Amino acid sequence: MPSDIEIARAATLKPIGQVAERLGIPDDALHNYGKHIAKIDHGYIAGLESRKPGKLVLVTAISPTPAGEGKTTTTVGLGDALNRIGEKTMICLREPSLGPCFGMKGGAAGGGKAQVVPMEQINLHFTGDFHAITSAHSLAAALIDNHVYWANELNIDVRRIHWRRVVDMNDRALRAINQSLGGVANGFPREDGFDITVASEVMAVFCLAKDLADLEERLGRIVIAETRDRKLVTLKDVKATGAMTVLLKDALQPNLVQTLEGNPALIHGGPFANIAHGCNSVIATRAGLRLADYTVTEAGFGADLGAEKFLDIKCRQAGLTPSAVVVVATIRALKMHGGVDKKNLGGENIEALEKGFANLARHVTNLRGFGLPVVVGVNHFHADTDAEHAKLKELCRERLDVEAITCRHWAEGGAGAEELARAVVKLSQAEPAPIRHAYETETRLTDKIRAIATKLYGAADIQIETKAAGKLATFEKDGYGNLPICMAKTQYSFSTDPTLMGAPEGHIVGVRDVRLSAGAGFVVVICGEIMTMPGLPRVPAADTIRLDANGQIDGLF
Ligand code: ADP
Ligand code: MG
Repeated sequence: MPSDIEIARAATLKPIGQVAERLGIPDDALHNYGKHIAKIDHGYIAGLESRKPGKLVLVTAISPTPAGEGKTTTTVGLGDALNRIGEKTMICLREPSLGPCFGMKGGAAGGGKAQVVPMEQINLHFTGDFHAITSAHSLAAALIDNHVYWANELNIDVRRIHWRRVVDMNDRALRAINQSLGGVANGFPREDGFDITVASEVMAVFCLAKDLADLEERLGRIVIAETRDRKLVTLKDVKATGAMTVLLKDALQPNLVQTLEGNPALIHGGPFANIAHGCNSVIATRAGLRLADYTVTEAGFGADLGAEKFLDIKCRQAGLTPSAVVVVATIRALKMHGGVDKKNLGGENIEALEKGFANLARHVTNLRGFGLPVVVGVNHFHADTDAEHAKLKELCRERLDVEAITCRHWAEGGAGAEELARAVVKLSQAEPAPIRHAYETETRLTDKIRAIATKLYGAADIQIETKAAGKLATFEKDGYGNLPICMAKTQYSFSTDPTLMGAPEGHIVGVRDVRLSAGAGFVVVICGEIMTMPGLPRVPAADTIRLDANGQIDGLF
């Protein structure tokens, strides 16, 4: 099989106007970025509101291995398959970040024959949305220090400025910095640091905003510092929101591209899946639902994190209800959950598969707990055996009464996922029931955290460190007690220990820190060490990325 970039490059792309035309989008609603990418105009998007929305399909996964189990690939493959069987379908994905591109190998635009294109542009600068978000965030940072520099009328305590700086690059050197050094003219020296752009609250706000007005209002609610008498200071207080919204205006229009099979995909926004909610923009999802009969979308990480946040944060805020959920599983990851070492995943091992099945079982049970119809999409890998796939189907049928379907979209494109597509259509026929959320928002913050940990993670209880408990009490006192929770924990385990595979029970979920994301509208709960500025590995992917003699990009994936 050729590499992802070779497959992507060999594809014949339609002019983007043709892709739009099939959705009924007129030419004058498009802002073209070259031949194959277009933003859809705000005015046109607003005009879609009155249409009846189609069905929403969520693609999530078991607890993954570091390589990823194929959520994006399955989202694209399923979208192509639905279009193949005659269902008008939109795909909604997140925009890739530059950091991982140059760090670990592996793209965020799907893989094999299930990709969105043009993959080089999508993975690199695309339409500049991340630039706009970085700029808006940086403007706020500059305005805060400028406010302090001139007269500090708000009485901002420079030791309690929570707004860090951002850049879209994995750069560990910037995690903690000293700034404003060099004398009076440069301001008041203080410690600061950088996060990667996808960790900015501007990104989370961008992805949850319904429109430009909502964006500006949410930006205004972001808490950036405290005063010397411990009052909260917002972006509105430093008068940042008008200019930030101006910088974000064009970026907030969703980006239309196509799959290798010429089907439409909206790729828009890309919040971190740990300290943010990890799914594409509400604007794109809502537009997709009104442009097509089916919208297939992915939530980051495993279902314990990604699907939970998709349902309890995004769907709750945006009034969305999925009609069906696909849980992506792989034989290799289930064998790892069954205790097999990463190095020995090659051979058939039914026993380990059966043991590791516990991980899939808990995810399926959890999703049904939300009241959602579930199907398992088994992403077929070359090294899998037929006996392993047969066994997994049998386990799913007998122990969970859930259908498991082997999918070959990575190798075959949409044709390889038609059976999954038909199952999804069948599951989606019933009018979706309201989501049974993991918790109600009108309860204590600690009770919400406990509900997620005990109901979904199989934990016995939570243990909140004193400092974090104090902050939670302050959030409630300041009127933020009714916000939903955004859990930040490892995606590799139901517990907070990434090495605890399968479906651990009776563990304690330790809460180390909490943060208020008042603009996004959630309280971030940090369990274990969570990195908001990744570093590059010893041998970064950047080492082998270059232009070849024909000016084509080599080594990207
Ligand atoms: P996720 O979205 O769950 O992180 P991706 O869909 O991005 O996962 O897939 C992760 C990587 O695995 C990609 O590089 C993709 O090309 C590769 N991949 C996915 N499915 C398969 C498969 N069936 N066979 C081989 N490689 C695959
Ligand atoms: Mg993905």
